[in-house]
Formats: sequence, structure tokens, C-alpha cells
Amino acid sequence: MDSTEKPSNFLRQIIERDLAQGTYANRRFAGHPADAAGHAAGQPDAARIRTRFPPEPNGYLHIGHAKSICLNFGLAQDYGGVCHLRFDDTNPEKEEQEYVDAIVEMVRWLGFDWNVGGVSHLFYASDDFDFMYRCACALIEDGLAYVDEQGADDMRRNRGTLTEPGVDSPWRDRLAAESLERFEQMRAGEHPEGSMVLRAKIDMASPNINLRDPVIYRIRFAHHHRTGDTWCIYPMYTFAHPIEDAMECITHSICTLEFEDQRPFYDWLLDHLVRLGLVASPRPHQYEFARLNLTYVVTSKRRLAQLVAEGHVDGWDDPRMPTLVGLRRRGYTPESLRLFAERIGVSKADSWIDYSVLEQALRDDLDTRAPRAMAVLDPLELQLTNWAEVFGSTAHAEPCSAPAHPARPEMGRRSFDLTARVWIEREDFKEAPPKGYHRLTPGGLVRLKYGYVVRCTGCEKDAEGRVVKVLAELLPDTKSGTSGADAVKVKGVITWVSASLGAAAQVRLFDRLFAQAQPDAGGRDFLSALNPRSRQTVQVYVEPALAGAPAGAWFQFERHGYFVADRIDHAPGRPVFNRTTTLKDSWGR
Ligand code: ATP
Ligand code: MG
Repeated sequence: MDSTEKPSNFLRQIIERDLAQGTYANRRFAGHPADAAGHAAGQPDAARIRTRFPPEPNGYLHIGHAKSICLNFGLAQDYGGVCHLRFDDTNPEKEEQEYVDAIVEMVRWLGFDWNVGGVSHLFYASDDFDFMYRCACALIEDGLAYVDEQGADDMRRNRGTLTEPGVDSPWRDRLAAESLERFEQMRAGEHPEGSMVLRAKIDMASPNINLRDPVIYRIRFAHHHRTGDTWCIYPMYTFAHPIEDAMECITHSICTLEFEDQRPFYDWLLDHLVRLGLVASPRPHQYEFARLNLTYVVTSKRRLAQLVAEGHVDGWDDPRMPTLVGLRRRGYTPESLRLFAERIGVSKADSWIDYSVLEQALRDDLDTRAPRAMAVLDPLELQLTNWAEVFGSTAHAEPCSAPAHPARPEMGRRSFDLTARVWIEREDFKEAPPKGYHRLTPGGLVRLKYGYVVRCTGCEKDAEGRVVKVLAELLPDTKSGTSGADAVKVKGVITWVSASLGAAAQVRLFDRLFAQAQPDAGGRDFLSALNPRSRQTVQVYVEPALAGAPAGAWFQFERHGYFVADRIDHAPGRPVFNRTTTLKDSWGR
């Protein structure tokens, strides 16, 4: 789609304004993250804008991240720009290579690429720890940062509250040279964790608590997944992030609303670093949008991790999880997630999106591509008692066929045989039918879809009175697709699978992971809102050809919804399908 055809939003308006005004037109780019001098020596930047998706590699991506990925990569695509994939790996304790690999895989899976013109735009904040340290030293020398040796308790107390200003630290006015010496000692590992921090010197009376001399460096004797033990001081995210943006020549730094209160510090920091000649100008600007809140799931890495760790789900890729690996296993397509992101748009006000919006995007995508198949999920045997009479032998198999997709003849046809015994859905037979019931009932006529019209003659029951078999007679010359097909009018059509030729399969039916739309609303423990019936496993029968379907293949099981051959457990000859989503309208007749 051309960018002009997409609905506008406040971010598009900002970008279009910047492009019209040429705000970023004369930038140079070194081809990689660099300081002001590095970029000045580079080429004029061919990218009209630069955005970034900056995950912290401390967990698996979820549907909320997909919104951010689609937004940042999508805006870059639409406006002749480049989107970077940046690992914001400044917090050594929680980060791991496993998460880096998984994030790379899922951004690719969603269909986005950070390689542009043969250049990779995948960066790690930790590669720039040296430069961040240099920035910190420059701020100290300029009187804009100091080493504070108050204990953590004093620092907290002296920060003040929303209604009371903070109190200056006794270390606030120490000499720059003394702070610099202390900071170097911190880096050299001469002081224990928690004994001192580096703080920006801004305004302890600011109504914005984030400007009351925020901490910018702390001591952590922690092994980092990329820099190992090189560092024992680490920059705070709020310090590292703007610097990374500037080093990468980001033009529009788009983040979620909870960072709105951080924007004044973002601006303060980058304006000073531009003035000090450390980062390139024009510098990036931060814009905030509302995060995605989706009903019936949780989208917080911490909560998702808890679900996995405590065994409430089978893993990060459990098909009930709103993680991207979970959604993929459930059968979500990248196209459906991009469609979802486009439909929900972006705004500046927090809101909840109903889970059904996500499901509908999936249906709209799968409807056009999923081949159709018949499956019986709650099998009951139907015996055609006059089969030998009509076809000469009880063993006869009568070939039937149907289009793979009703609207796409180029997808070809599928074949399956009708036999003397078939499986039908238990709900498709009723001895005492309610009013308006048009399926099998003693004496009634129904069409076996793509096959023949049959007349129900009765049923057999077990000792408990439960129906175990339905009996019917086939009406010759009523085969679908033949001239006699319309000779007998029926009101009901039912799906079926040959009992002798159909393939047995396992099907997993999923319901919402949480029973409450907002699992953690009102201070409730989100675990208490878990839906105890979120997964049901049933043994079913499917068209014979489906036993050989490749893992990851999608089907629409007629009447039942969209299903995918499970990526992990499905194997030829041992089919396992996940129900991706139900059909929009239930089988009403
Ligand atoms: P979580 O809240 O799940 O821990 P996070 O914000 O800590 O996620 P990051 O790795 O920092 O995760 O996120 C990377 C990017 O994804 C950030 O720019 C963040 O704003 C964005 N993001 C995270 N969650 C959502 C969401 N629910 N909706 C939209 N964007 C999101
Ligand atoms: Mg975060």
C-alpha cells in the first residue's frame, strides 16, 4: 500500500512535517553508530528518516512488541527511511543471548529487515559503553553530574514527593575533579555496589521527579552477556537510550506513554551533549504512543515469565501465550499480525483492544489462503445400510471431490472417498429434534457434503441409552455435481469423514487463557483469573490426505474454524492440529 493511502495519525503528521521542513535533510551518517565527529566524516544520509525497535533482551517478544515493530519498521518503509533493530542491553543481570536470538528470529518472521542496501542496522547498546562513559565524564567536567555517596535510604528520602521538593545531596556541590576521580574509581571496581552513584545535576525542586538529579550510572559487579566482566558500572536505561538514539542518527524515537515523563530528561541530556560536541546535530526527538493492551491476555514480560516458570502454560511457545512464538505456534500468520497492527492504529490515549480484533485479522488472512478440509471433532458412526445393494459390495469406495478453496479454483481440487461407514458429528443426529433442526433425525433427509443424500432410518444405543450408531439409506443418483443432485431437495448438509479411510488425529481446542477481560484489574492477582478450561485435547478424524500435511500447514476445517498442523508435535502419520480460531459465524442450521 502506498503511504498516502494509509490512514494518517499523529506520528505520520510529525514525520511529514519534518520532511516538509527538511529538519533532518542535511545529516551525515557514518554507516554505524558514531559520535558527532564520526558522523560528520560520513556520507550524506540516504535514509530520509531513521526509527528503531529497541527491545531489552530479557524475555520473548509479545503481541505488544509486534505493534511497536510494525509501527517503527512500517513508518521507515513508508517514508523512505531505515529502521534499526537495537538491543537495549544495559542491564546485565536479566539479559541473555537466548533472548537475543529469539528476538532476531521473530522480527524476521514478522517480515521486517534491518539490512538495507547491503548494510546491517542491528546494533547493541553495550557496544557503546565506552562512549557513554565518555559522555558521563564530559557532564561531570561541565558541572552537570556528580558522584553521590548518600546511602540508598537517604537518597530515596531526599528525593521528595509529588507535593514536596527534594533536598540537595551533601555531595551535590563537590568539585568536578573530585567526582571525576571517584567515578574513575567506581569504574576500576574500587567501591562496593550501592556505595555511590553518578547523578545528573539538574533540579531537586523540579515538579517532574525524573529531573531531580536522576541516577545515570550505578555499580554492578555483574557479568554481561556481551561485554563479560569488562565493566562493573552500568548506565541507567534513561541515560543510555537517548545516547544510543543519537549515535544511531535516529530521527524519530517512538516509545510508549510511560516514557512521557522521561522526555524532559531525554531533551536535557541530548541538548547538552550536542552543545559539548559529543553527539551529532540535529538530534533525535522522542514521541510517545499508547501501548497495546489486549483483553484476556497479559502483555508484561514479567507476568509471562511467571506463567512459564510456574507451569501454568507449557512454555513461551504454548499456543495460548500472547508471545510471538506462541501466536506462531497457534497458527497466526505474520500477515495477520501486520493487518492487526494496521487496524488498531496508534493513538496518544491508553485503551483496551478486544481479543476478537486480533482473531478477526487472522480470519481475514486465513480465509483467502487456507485450503478447506472436512474433519469430525466429536465422532459418531453413521452406517449406510443399503451400500452393498447400491454399489455391489460393502467394501466399495465411492470417489468424491471438492474445491480446495471455494473462491480460488487455481488451488485445485481435493479428493476423498465415501464409504459404507462414516463419522459424523454427534450433534448432527437427534432422535427428538428441536424445532428448526435440519440435520439427521429418524425419517429425515440430509446431504453428506460433496456426496449423496441419505435418509435416516434410526439408531442403535448402548446399555446406558447413549446413541452409538446412526443408520441411514443412501439415495442413488443424488451425488453432488451430477445432474440428479437437485432432484431431491434437502434442508441440511452435514460434514463427514470416511470411517475406514479417514485419518485419526489429535486436535487441541483453545479458549482464552484468562477468564477475565482485564486479568490484573483492580489489584487482582492475575493468576486467579486464569481460565481452567483454556485447552482441551480431543481425538478426531480428518480427510485422509491431511495425515501427510507438513507441519505449519493451515486448513479451514469446514464448520469448525482454522487449524494448523502443530510445528512441534505434528508428524506425517501422526497428525496433530491446533485450532487457530473458530469461524466467525457458527454452524447455524
Ligand atoms: P514489558 O512491559 O513486557 O516488560 P518492555 O517495555 O519492558 O516490555 P522492551 O524490550 O523494553 O519491553 O520493549 C521494546 C519496545 O517495545 C519498546 O519500545 C516498548 O515501548 C515496546 N513495547 C513493549 N510493550 C508494548 C506494548 N504492549 N505495546 C506497544 N509497544 C510495546
Ligand atoms: Mg521496558
